[in-house]
Amino acid sequence: MAQSVAGPEIERLIQLLARLPGLGPRSARRAALHLIKKREQLLGPLSEALKLASERIVVCRTCGNVDTAEPCMVCRDAGRDPSIIVVVEDVSDLWALERAAAVRARYHVLGGVLSALDGVRPEHLNLEPLVVRAAEPEVKEIILALNATVDGQTTAHYVTEILSGLSVKVTKLAHGVPVGGELDYLDEGTLSAAMKQRTAF
Ligand code: ZN
Repeated sequence: MAQSVAGPEIERLIQLLARLPGLGPRSARRAALHLIKKREQLLGPLSEALKLASERIVVCRTCGNVDTAEPCMVCRDAGRDPSIIVVVEDVSDLWALERAAAVRARYHVLGGVLSALDGVRPEHLNLEPLVVRAAEPEVKEIILALNATVDGQTTAHYVTEILSGLSVKVTKLAHGVPVGGELDYLDEGTLSAAMKQRTAF
């Protein structure tokens, strides 16, 4: 164990920063030092922002998104098409689709995907409320925007199954050649999926 070079408060700051995704112990030290140097411009406002966020964050009971109000901003937005619900694994996927302005619809966050390996079963996911929402008369289409992994696709099949008794149309994202992608650089899985899902020109 390396000798501490700073007091327990600073060591604690470094330890907490090191738990963030993408930050190892070395980057956490660098980040902590940066915060300390920019105490007034950064450390103070950041600690205030963290405090406010931790006090006010709620998980939307309708869709599973996180926000500081219930229902969340997406569910409250009257400009969205109420006939479409986009099903995602995690809030990060919702944010990614919103950044891409891919669709002006509502969302449903599952909070994970089914995984035999990790012991994630249907009852661990936000599935029952999805069935209830999908049965609402205004809902016409459920878009499964799940990852193209084995677990993501297993979950997509499961969701399709539990919605099969309803009159909604269930669709999923196309998998294929990315925009700007060169065939030579794609992995075999992506290429074969793109070939299988080819469309008329
Ligand atoms: Zn919501």
